[in-house]
Amino acid sequence: MASPSDHHATVIDGKAIAQTIRSEIASEVTILSQKYSKVPGLAVVIVGCRKDSQSYVSMKRKACAEVGIKSFDIDLPEDVPEVELIAKVDELNANPEVHGILVQLPLPKHINEEKILSQISLEKDVDGFHPLNIGKLAMKGRDPLFLPCTPKGCLELLSRSGISIKGKKAVVVGRSNIVGLPVSLLLLKADATVTVVHSRTQDPESFIREADIVIAAAGQAMMIKGSWIKPGAAVIDVGTNAVNDPSRKSGYRLVGDVDFQEACKVAGWITPVPGGVGPLTVAMLLQNTLEGAKRVIGQ
Ligand code: NAP
Repeated sequence: MASPSDHHATVIDGKAIAQTIRSEIASEVTILSQKYSKVPGLAVVIVGCRKDSQSYVSMKRKACAEVGIKSFDIDLPEDVPEVELIAKVDELNANPEVHGILVQLPLPKHINEEKILSQISLEKDVDGFHPLNIGKLAMKGRDPLFLPCTPKGCLELLSRSGISIKGKKAVVVGRSNIVGLPVSLLLLKADATVTVVHSRTQDPESFIREADIVIAAAGQAMMIKGSWIKPGAAVIDVGTNAVNDPSRKSGYRLVGDVDFQEACKVAGWITPVPGGVGPLTVAMLLQNTLEGAKRVIGQ
């Protein structure tokens, strides 16, 4: 008989799932261009030269090219005046070849992020961060035009792994506008009973221990221990934290918010870091752009 220590969670392969989705998108893009002579277009706007932002942006642009989405590359200097960025967003809003607009965050301090995100046309808000899209996500019976990519990716990982959400207890760790809050709203829409744990929550493990589904998005390296996980739970680890690792050439490695080795012995399913949620975020961005283009041609 297998002892509990022999247990090993099913590791959800985000890379493989994302690859499947990207192939599905590529086929649909081909059909759109053959049948309607329409190529979906995504504008990726970057301000300044933060290394992490640059690498995210180049990954997104490369992903567009791979599935046949046309990318419009807008690179603006760190000191670009806010009015110029707004004018650029307006220009992209008016461009019929652009079906999605993404402004890479964070923006430099002198630019009001809320103002910029609200300026993006609702129909092109492929990041799903426009307050109206988030507001509709929070309301019963309303559907936003786009769902934020990382939260949407978390639910896609659950559904493609055959994990049902309806009636389950879900705990989201983190309440940011980008991940924690929207993923909690999505889980609620999918009929889970949702608890949100944040930095002021007392005794977070007591909540996490009850959860059938844990979405970890706190940005705290390996804070969630194996003993905090309910046996058989599904654990989606969004956290991406660099920790020192002198054995690596780079001097660091990426870990999640969950202690992966420990959690594997208890959880039913778990995502690795890297290779879990990250690839889905990009795939969902491509999917949102395709949806935007299809909406324009009435498909
Ligand atoms: P964030 O804006 O820093 O938000 C972190 C959230 O976690 C906050 O709500 C904070 O609570 C909460 N928190 C911090 N320490 C905590 C603790 N000890 N216990 C419980 N809650 C705690 O971060 P984010 O943008 O949401 O990102 C979260 C993580 O996901 C980061 O590691 C980020 O790199 C990663 N991420 C990955 C992807 C991907 O595609 N894989 C995409 C986006 C983000 P308060 O609200 O009380 O401060």
